[in-house]
Amino acid sequence: MSIKQKNCFTITLLLLLSIFSLQAQSLLPPVADWKGKSEMLIAKANDPWITPAEKSDFVTTPTYDQTMDWLKKLSNASPLLSMTSIGKSLEGRYIMMIIASSEKTITPAALRNSAKPLLLVQAGIHAGEIDGKDAGMMLLRDIAVGNKKQLLKDVNLLFIPILNVDGHERSSPYNRPNQRGPENMGWRTNAENLNLNRDYAKQDTKEIRAVTSVFNEYGPLMYMDLHVTDGADYQYDITFGGHGKQGYSPAIFTWLDTKYKPYADNALAAHGHIPGQLLNALNNQDFSSGNALILGEPRFSDAYGNLRHMASVLVENHSLKPYKQRVLGTYVLLESTLKLLAIEGQSLKESTKADKAKRDAKIPLKSKIPQMENVISFETQLSTQGSSALSSTPPDSLNLLGIESKLQKSFITNSDYVEWTGKPVNTKIANYRATEGIEWVTRPKGYWVPASCEEVIERLKRHGIKVEILQEPRELTLEMYRIKDAKFQNDEGKTQLFEGHMRVVASTAVETRKELLAKGSAFISTDQPLGDLAILLLEPKSPDSYFSWGFFPGLFQRTEYIEGYVMEPLMRAMLEKSPELKKEFEQKKIVDDTFAKDPNAIATWFYSKTKYYDDRYLLYPVGREK
Ligand SMILES: [Zn+2]
Repeated sequence: MSIKQKNCFTITLLLLLSIFSLQAQSLLPPVADWKGKSEMLIAKANDPWITPAEKSDFVTTPTYDQTMDWLKKLSNASPLLSMTSIGKSLEGRYIMMIIASSEKTITPAALRNSAKPLLLVQAGIHAGEIDGKDAGMMLLRDIAVGNKKQLLKDVNLLFIPILNVDGHERSSPYNRPNQRGPENMGWRTNAENLNLNRDYAKQDTKEIRAVTSVFNEYGPLMYMDLHVTDGADYQYDITFGGHGKQGYSPAIFTWLDTKYKPYADNALAAHGHIPGQLLNALNNQDFSSGNALILGEPRFSDAYGNLRHMASVLVENHSLKPYKQRVLGTYVLLESTLKLLAIEGQSLKESTKADKAKRDAKIPLKSKIPQMENVISFETQLSTQGSSALSSTPPDSLNLLGIESKLQKSFITNSDYVEWTGKPVNTKIANYRATEGIEWVTRPKGYWVPASCEEVIERLKRHGIKVEILQEPRELTLEMYRIKDAKFQNDEGKTQLFEGHMRVVASTAVETRKELLAKGSAFISTDQPLGDLAILLLEPKSPDSYFSWGFFPGLFQRTEYIEGYVMEPLMRAMLEKSPELKKEFEQKKIVDDTFAKDPNAIATWFYSKTKYYDDRYLLYPVGREK
């Protein structure tokens, strides 16, 4: 290659590199200028307690080490703050929590038993969505060394600045192409590529185990999980909400809906923000087919919190708004939550008590949108579901503060895509809500998990569910499930792993059996505050049960068999002995041609009717005591 050719090659390479590394900011839809009263919250440049994000004018966010160093310095400067580790990540980073309290004794028990309501705020579960960390640092600064000490007069606060600590350090400008800042952002999943916001029910990760131990030890009254959206454009800069009325905590829902939402919305609007409800375009593109408020299953933080009867709020800042605007909105939401808890903490405590005391005789394992035929899950694309809307009951409507969108033709993919023009348009749209409970089960007195399912017993304990261990073998008559038509597939119906597991979907048939339970087997009463959670973790048809997550692989395996030379005389003897069996066999051959032509299927059919057959094959080993 000549020098000229070489130069030409280098220039082409540089050009290509610069095209492929185009920063997302320049590709995003246009954004409106924003000014708001909350800008007054930003520290002056000469303030010794200016946060790293403020110092950069919200262009960057501090690293894990910078964050922890800054917070340590702040905690050392104030008697109101202390820091504690709640766990350690796979890469060896401590997951830190700041306790902000004016109590004399700061222990988990003292905070759990305090008359003051306890708020737990968690940032960075998806480490690229890091607004909550920078907002929390500003608010803690104003509490500790500023003029907001009074926020702790009647409320205690726990703050996890970064939950996904390893993901936070996988930092790059290219991690979240649909998000407007900060310049350096962390990665969605943890070091083993698991999504922490799919782990609440199954409890695989160190990070979610750490948060669950905070739930168990500190017993927070309210829990906020801070995220940033992806997807559609609209005018709102901050959207948030709890689980719906049909969830497992109806009294808490009413409190969130009637007390929390209006209060927080007012505070945000007064500071120049545009609060809205949680939004998911039904067609996965724009809002022309309406909004779909799908309730996640207990693998998600808010659904899990609802099932534990803890007021849980999912916050989704709008990814297309500038970082400064998003951080300030989060600050205002957190401050207004503390203020409301000071006024309405007692009423939330009463609502929580009512939900924790509730023992519904029947509970649903799933919920669906009444106007839709199928269950829509977060994991499946919404686009294909939109058309299955039934017209019988009209959905609610919503006055959407939207952004104009246009369908454009892509000459590259030869299909349509949505272009957001940045022009505000206010429209009334259909607001579908998953309000209909389905797959109802009756509440048993409790469940028996045999000693052989040690891993499941351990995980039930991690949730804080009360478990009684048998000290000697016991025989019991139990209701049990025989598994039928099992399919090993993810939620999109594909034979693929999901979050490190091969998921199972099956139907069940109920049997009553006498079971001899070994010493070490566990009884899980449903008469406890976490009884509803136990039901959803142990009923095999519940989407986030341990069965669905593939924790019972052994039951799908048949291990004994009969040789042909034993089977043949046995089959003959069976037919001779029982004219009914003979009739049933002849009938089955007529109606099932495949069976009639399959010698193996015929032998298995006879085998299944003998005493030699393994009667635990396809038997779900967890029993229900009525
Ligand atoms: Zn998220």
